[in-house]
Formats: sequence, structure tokens, C-alpha cells
Amino acid sequence: MKSREKVLIVGGGIAGLTTAIELGRRGVSSFIIEKKETVGGRAGTYACKAVNGHCQKCGACLVQDAIRESMEMGEIEISVKTSLAGLDREGKEIVARLKSGEGETSVRFSALVLCHGFQPFDPAGKPNYGYGRIPNLITGAELELMMKEKGDVFRPSDGKPAKDMAFVQCVGSRNPALGRSYCSQVCCGYALRMARQIRSARPSTSITFFYMDVQTFGRDFERMFWEFRDAIYWIREIPGDFFAAPGDRVGVIVEDEGEIKEMSFDLMTLSVGMGPSREQPVFEEWLGLRQGPEGFLASPDRDGIFVAGSATGPMSIPDTIVNCRAAVTRVMDYLEERS
Ligand SMILES: Cc1cc2nc3c(=O)[nH]c(=O)nc-3n(C[C@H](O)[C@H](O)[C@H](O)COP(=O)(O)OP(=O)(O)OC[C@H]3O[C@@H](n4cnc5c(N)ncnc54)[C@H](O)[C@@H]3O)c2cc1C
Ligand code: SF4
Ligand code: SF4
Repeated sequence: MKSREKVLIVGGGIAGLTTAIELGRRGVSSFIIEKKETVGGRAGTYACKAVNGHCQKCGACLVQDAIRESMEMGEIEISVKTSLAGLDREGKEIVARLKSGEGETSVRFSALVLCHGFQPFDPAGKPNYGYGRIPNLITGAELELMMKEKGDVFRPSDGKPAKDMAFVQCVGSRNPALGRSYCSQVCCGYALRMARQIRSARPSTSITFFYMDVQTFGRDFERMFWEFRDAIYWIREIPGDFFAAPGDRVGVIVEDEGEIKEMSFDLMTLSVGMGPSREQPVFEEWLGLRQGPEGFLASPDRDGIFVAGSATGPMSIPDTIVNCRAAVTRVMDYLEERS
């Protein structure tokens, strides 16, 4: 294989960083473009969910480890605030037009790995949730950020701690009416880990989960679930209607144990799932890529074009790392054949 092979990686989240690190370990250089000001992607905004110093294996610190390692590797170049303006092919090479604050440049690469990630479900698109209209109704992504930045949970309306709170699971997942029948795989995990952390910091906080099923992916998570299960009030129904209740509380009407009940909470979190990135249609058009069964991109694995990480489907941080390691094996096979 030629030693001057260089791979373009689009996206500096955990997928892009892992891909670059794995290529670097095999002596292949890469160039990561990240459209935002910093690398780390969405998972770079997640809180450590350790409880009393005990790791809950949420995976958030794997992102910080990858950022550190990628900065130290000579084979990796990173350009932030940079995006793709276009792609062409010249023989076996991919010519990328890169756009940054300094203007547009054309650069040649041996292969391209799209690691542009996913889009969390936006509940504003489904008016019955009342998201954006009802105070103290937030998304899982907002709760993650609040816990990371403030180390605690407060009601956005008055900055006071929530005495009772609820999580609504499967928001934007497992819903054929939205064209999203799949399970997003991560929202049971992040919601339960954050609930456990909140209870540990404030044991008097009452926590209710509205759910369909609990996905306990992984042995550690399953053990954590059984240890913590009884600390939560479980209602096996997803509320249909949400309303603003007195005292800036979030109200819902649900059927619980055969009774129709009106309930309200100081704070409610919509456990939003993972959907395809908004950038995806552009890549489909430029590269003639096709979608997989869940509507994310299928990796073509040919002509030097690969897709890796959550751009290919919903997955956790550890699963993204595994997915990208497998993708790098396929990239290496391509580079070997090409040389
Ligand atoms: C609310 C929520 C909480 C979660 N909590 C957890 C958790 O606790 N533990 C866990 O394991 N998983 C969690 N996940 C899943 C986790 O977010 C993903 O596994 C992870 O972010 C996937 O990484 P990625 O690099 O594939 O995508 P992303 O994190 O989306 O990164 C993609 C990167 O590509 C960049 N990009 C996109 N398009 C372009 C372009 N055209 N040019 C340049 N750059 C571009 C983006 O800016 C971004 O930096 C959670 C998911 C959600 C929705
Ligand atoms: S895996 Fe999660 S809980 Fe454990 S130390 Fe890392 S960030 Fe904290
Ligand atoms: S992980 Fe849990 S909350 Fe998320 S879609 Fe699957 S079952 Fe629903």
C-alpha cells in the first residue's frame, strides 16, 4: 500500500475520531473536517453519569479519551468550522471541495468515510407533546446538557429543583406513524442512568417513567436496571396529550391500572430517539447512496466511499466505536486492493 494514502473523514464526533485513530494505528493518515467549532459531536455534550463515584458505564468519557488521542496522533489532521462543498472523482481519487472561513479549496483523497452522525428527534414537529409551549417540558438532550453544565437538575421556569419528575420514553422511536418503527437503542439507557443520578443526589425526588418496553442492552446495564427498578414508578403507557398545569407543572392524561388519571410533574423529560442526519439527502444525491431499512445511510463500501457510526443507524457510543473499527477494516482492504 502507498504510504501517502490519505482518507477524508466527514464529522468529528466519536465516529470520525475513532475512524481516524484506527487508521492512524495502521499508519494511514486522515483529515477530519468538522463543521462545528469543536470536535466530539453530540456525545461531547453528555454528562458523566457516575453515582457516588461509581461508574455507570454511560460511555461519555470515551469521547474525551478519543479527542485526547486524536490530538496526539501525527497521522491525524483536524479542520474545524469546515464543511464539504462538493465531491468529484478523478480516476481512483476523490476530489473534495472543502469550505472554511478561509474560502474553498480542492483536496485529493484516497477514500472518504462519512461520519456525519444523526439528528435527535425534534418533538416540536409533533404538536401534541406541547414542546416549546409548555414550561418545564424538556428533551433528553437538554437534560444531558443541564447535568453536564450545572451538575444538577432544575426547572427551567424558576431554577428550582424538581420535587417530582417524569420521563416519557420512545419519543420519536417505535412509532410507525412517524415512519420510525425502530428502537433507538440508547434512550432507555441514558434516561435510567440520569434518573439514578438525580435520585442519588436528591433521594426525595419522585420519578415516574412512561414506557412501552425497557431495552436493557448489555450486561452492566441490565444489572443496573434491576438494582434501580423499584425506585421508579412505572406506567406502561405513552401519554397522548400534554398540557400546562398550574404551578408551571407539566400535565398528562393516562390510563394507569385501568383508571384514566390526570397527573402532573414539576419537570418532564421527553426521551428523544435518534433519526437520520439532516445532511443525509445531500450525500445521497452527491454520491448516489442508498438508505438502509431504518432510513439511515447504508455504507456502499465501494469506490472508496464508506459510511460509519450513527450515520448508519441508531447506536450508543461504545457501539459506534465497534462499528467504526469494523469500517476501518473495510477501508484498509480497499486501500490494499487499490495500491
Ligand atoms: C439525548 C441523547 C442522549 C444520549 N446519551 C448517550 C449516552 O449516555 N451513552 C451512549 O453511549 N450514547 C448516548 N447517545 C447516543 C450518542 O449520542 C451516539 O452514539 C453518538 O453521538 C454517535 O456518534 P457519531 O460520531 O456517530 O455522531 P455525532 O455525535 O452526531 O457526531 C457527528 C459529527 O459530525 C459533524 N458533521 C455532520 N455533518 C457534517 C458535515 N457535512 N461536515 C462536517 N462535519 C459534519 C457534526 O457536527 C458532529 O460533530 C445519546 C443520544 C441521544 C439522542
Ligand atoms: S463511563 Fe460514564 S459514568 Fe463511567 S466514568 Fe465515564 S462518563 Fe462517568
Ligand atoms: S431504547 Fe427504550 S426508549 Fe428508546 S426507543 Fe428503545 S425502548 Fe424506546
